[in-house]
Amino acid sequence: MTAYEAELTHIEQRELFYTGKAKSLYRTNRPDVLWVDFRDDLTAGDGKKRGQEAGKGALNARIAAHLFDYLEGAGVRTHFLKYIEPSVHLVRAVQILPLEVVVRNIAAGSLIRRIGWEEGRPLSEPLVEWYYKRDDLGDPLLAEAHIALLSLADSTTLASLKEQALLINTLLQKKFSDAGLLLADFKLEFGRLASGTIVLADEISPDTCRLWDASSRVSYDKDRFRKDQGDVLGAYREVARRLGLV
Ligand code: UDP
Repeated sequence: MTAYEAELTHIEQRELFYTGKAKSLYRTNRPDVLWVDFRDDLTAGDGKKRGQEAGKGALNARIAAHLFDYLEGAGVRTHFLKYIEPSVHLVRAVQILPLEVVVRNIAAGSLIRRIGWEEGRPLSEPLVEWYYKRDDLGDPLLAEAHIALLSLADSTTLASLKEQALLINTLLQKKFSDAGLLLADFKLEFGRLASGTIVLADEISPDTCRLWDASSRVSYDKDRFRKDQGDVLGAYREVARRLGLV
């Protein structure tokens, strides 16, 4: 165990300072480390549809920890430090960029509503999209000109985010394909460390990905909740099982 890992065994949870739709963030006894609790809450349609699935938070925390470890091992820098069973991540404190980065391999969701393709049509190459993290505006799609207008990120930062997102896509596609799952699309968030370095943050889980069985194309992700398809927890558990986690 490194000295840094040893220090992480002495982290104490302190006050709640941010409650998101599915995670709660707490401070710790170290200013550079946050305590993230993955809750059982589910939301869809900009928070208009709400639900709960007992055990969902723990499954997402387990799956996301595994994926962050995997990505770190492949050279992707992330905010993730440590998983504490059943539903907590210790993470580096970052300033989250106000952009959601969506990567798509197969047409689904808002893309088919926007451009009129049928669900399931493969894209000839991965598509990277930017969305403005603004609940009051409904997280709208942004063109790069809008990002420049709003000074949300400069062109060098955008190019680097796109490169990282595409690398993460390649790595995740491989990981899920080995588990018999197609990665149709997913959302990433990035954050800035105190040093200025931008790292992958937030989570990667069935809440933030579209994962389809490779042969039947059944959804094993939050679409089961969005579309009232039932057995949401069973689907998330199946993802964890196929990744060898439960
Ligand atoms: N996504 C997410 N959070 C959001 C919006 C989208 O995690 O606030 C994920 C979603 O689960 C899907 C991908 O990003 O895997 C693309 O979502 P899309 O734009 O199709 O929107 P949706 O139809 O899911 O609202």
